[in-house]
Amino acid sequence: MGKGYKGVPCVYCLERKAGTADHVIARKFFPADKRDDLPKVAACAECNNVKSRLEHALTAIMPFGAQHADADQALAMAEPRLTKNRKLHANLAAGVAYSIRSINGGPWQTEMTVPVDHADIEKLCWFIVKGLAHHHWQVALGPEHSVRASFLSEAGRQRFDPFFAGAARAKVKQDFGNGVFAYEGVQAQDCPELTLWKMSIYGAEVGGDKRAKGKRSSMIYGISAPKAWLATEMLMSILGQ
Ligand SMILES: [Zn+2]
Repeated sequence: MGKGYKGVPCVYCLERKAGTADHVIARKFFPADKRDDLPKVAACAECNNVKSRLEHALTAIMPFGAQHADADQALAMAEPRLTKNRKLHANLAAGVAYSIRSINGGPWQTEMTVPVDHADIEKLCWFIVKGLAHHHWQVALGPEHSVRASFLSEAGRQRFDPFFAGAARAKVKQDFGNGVFAYEGVQAQDCPELTLWKMSIYGAEVGGDKRAKGKRSSMIYGISAPKAWLATEMLMSILGQ
């Protein structure tokens, strides 16, 4: 373990002491030759375990919806994982559906959809928002802050997108692994703990969300804000729950 990760507060809960360095975006999302220079933060064993379980499930399922440049490579990585994981395999077999659709008026294509638990993706992105805010801007998000991540309807996206183009204290745009995990973040000028994120994993489109009826999106939006701040509740309500 590298220096500076042991004994400091866990970036995810700020309550327990860290015992390990956690990759904010897990190495196993990436092919072996694209795992360098991924951001790391200090994490406690409990947070690390919860996050690992989510990563384990999602790295076996999400590649089946991959749309990024190396989608075939991602799929090849996922197949053996899925075979090893019987419960996921059974869920997948039960939930696979085929549909036919035309993208932007192009030829009709058969498309496979797989059952992905939105709650798992949103929970993992809750960790990732905290990790990235700390990694880029040393923002510590604890019990005094609200953090939420979710897929958004078109109306929700329109509310948040202007902030990424506007004035900010800091902005970041990154793409790890040629589209495996791409994100943009923006930090509010007058409040360092107010951060806004859009993230996509494998460019995979996820649909069927109750808040985004019939619409699919590859973007997960995330936000952090101080609980004491007046507009926080309103912002969090756009992200649902
Ligand atoms: Zn923790």
